[in-house]
Amino acid sequence: MAQAGGGKSKNSRTAITAQKFFCPCGGEVKMKELSQGGKRKLIAECLECKRIERRPTDFM
Ligand SMILES: [Zn+2]
Repeated sequence: MAQAGGGKSKNSRTAITAQKFFCPCGGEVKMKELSQGGKRKLIAECLECKRIERRPTDFM
């Protein structure tokens, strides 16, 4: 069976829903809100190794 001009399979990857990030250890990275000196700060934390980064993308 030849796949001719089927463009639909590409679209399945482009859905921007809830973004999930994973730490190199395999744990899931979750956003967390911290209060520091009255200011709120969002950080990303790995649920497995408790590594903390400023952005989820820093785990990549
Ligand atoms: Zn981790």
